[in-house]
Amino acid sequence: MNFSEFIKKYANHPDYISPTGNELHAKSWQTEAPLRMLLNNLDRRVAENPDELVVYGGTGQAARNPEALLQIIKCLLELDENHSLLVQSGKAVGVVRTHPEAPRVFIANSNLVPVWATWDHFEKLKERGLMMYGQMTAGSWIYIGSQGILQGTFETFAACGAKYFNGELRHKLIVSGGLGGMGGAQPLAATMAGATYLGIDVDPERILKRVESGYLDHISYSYSEAKELVVKAKKLGKAISVGLVADIGDILEQLIIDGITPDIVTDQTSAHDPLFGYVPNGLTLEAARTLRKIAPQKYKDLSMKSMARHVGFMLEMQKLGAVVFDYGNNLREMGFQGGEKGAYNYNGFIPEFIRPLFCEGKGPFRWAALSGDPKDIRVTDEALIEAFPNNLRMITWLQKAQKQVEFQGLPARICWLGMGEREKAGLLFNKLVREGKLKAPIVIGRDHLDCGSVASPNRETEKMLDGSDAVSDWPLLNLMANTGGGATWVSFHHGGGVGMGYSQHAGMVVLADGTKRAENCIQRVLFNDPAMGIYRHNDAGYDIAAENMTTFNLNFK
Ligand code: NAD
Repeated sequence: MNFSEFIKKYANHPDYISPTGNELHAKSWQTEAPLRMLLNNLDRRVAENPDELVVYGGTGQAARNPEALLQIIKCLLELDENHSLLVQSGKAVGVVRTHPEAPRVFIANSNLVPVWATWDHFEKLKERGLMMYGQMTAGSWIYIGSQGILQGTFETFAACGAKYFNGELRHKLIVSGGLGGMGGAQPLAATMAGATYLGIDVDPERILKRVESGYLDHISYSYSEAKELVVKAKKLGKAISVGLVADIGDILEQLIIDGITPDIVTDQTSAHDPLFGYVPNGLTLEAARTLRKIAPQKYKDLSMKSMARHVGFMLEMQKLGAVVFDYGNNLREMGFQGGEKGAYNYNGFIPEFIRPLFCEGKGPFRWAALSGDPKDIRVTDEALIEAFPNNLRMITWLQKAQKQVEFQGLPARICWLGMGEREKAGLLFNKLVREGKLKAPIVIGRDHLDCGSVASPNRETEKMLDGSDAVSDWPLLNLMANTGGGATWVSFHHGGGVGMGYSQHAGMVVLADGTKRAENCIQRVLFNDPAMGIYRHNDAGYDIAAENMTTFNLNFK
């Protein structure tokens, strides 16, 4: 197939789809893999808005513009194993000499010198076509749809249940805002954990997308109908989810007026981006679109004020007895800037629930079947269940996921694994490919939201024991460790999750194509990557991390 035939079939803007099967289009699986994952990121079944090349998280893009994307595709189709492609904020900018065990693609997205790292400066550059916002897995080509966040959300809700509700979320009501790419995982994660769920989004299209993908049970356009449904379900202990078309602030206010205090309140609107991610209170979607264009500063001011109001209601619910936590969208900071001075009076989800897992090198390990065949994922699920018979939490998750998770685009799976486990799983997948038990190679990656790959003081590194929240040497070391180890593609981004100025983070994906080369790379990368989490938390003074330094023989002095 020549280039124009390939583009016509797989990348006819805005209709993107990954090739499937085991026939190569690029020169090797090392370049076919990033090519497929890039196209998969933009597949309408996966991406929130392929017309704008937006994958998730407000404006998180996979490539800078359609022309730049074509160039990247062309390079990947032609690249050999002694060269690597350089991608700068979604545009191919060069090819360097490397070697077969080096990463095939080096990606840097949205990085700005710290003093210039503001949304205003970024927007100016973006307008001039010089940058794009890469979010975390959008610009690093390992987004796998809402499932990517599903298990993390399930773990978080379950951990919240364990900490505050004796491990039982039945008869408990969770209320949250935002049903977008990430936020859309909340209803299914909540019902999987046994809770009743009410999600609020201003955009009915977004809610309908969750109903279609099986992540949400009902859509409602009426507050009283939605309220009745969830209050009744909570009473009966029924794990159902309802998506209500409305402004989140208005609904929290109305619930307070009606004397309904949810058990858990959080939020997943794209608060990190006050211009494109949050719709100010009182505006219709249409009015918001217009105002955004004609008066962006006014829009941002209204947005921040609305977030202050929104956070104010969350604080009120906390006083009324709800467990309230920030779910990684920087809502507290935006609310604070908008005038709610008590915004930081509730915790973020990392110090509340996730940090102990980070100390074990645990995080969102994920993989995708390049064959496109769902049976390949089933084979990997079963292999993991056999290989880790004592990991009951993982087994429960995989069995639930098999029944309840619909794949979007290339079949994929996520499951939190830690030090030792990731390497074992990676080698197992490579063996399954070698033995022909899978129809094509597997790619193994993770979110940048991981144990040793991110500096984000309002999220992953909030309230570190030694106060090193803002030290971003760590994600840079992570990038270097994974580059040196031979990941298949690596990335370094700014601003993911919480917005420009607030985070720096590294990504990696490693290929399991059944070869000895892949085995070498997997052994190094899937050791180094979780080890970085243990090193980072040990250095910050966490006892669990210190114990894991010994358990995994990581002491180096
Ligand atoms: P998204 O942009 O796809 O979805 C955001 C949704 O919020 C949209 O559907 C939008 O209509 C809705 N919304 C905006 N203003 C609203 C309002 N006033 N009331 C009700 N709904 C409103 O974003 P996403 O991919 O779902 O990500 C959500 C946020 O979570 C982002 O800030 C992202 O950075 C963050 N995030 C969190 C995690 C995590 O692990 N917790 C991981 C990745 C991203």
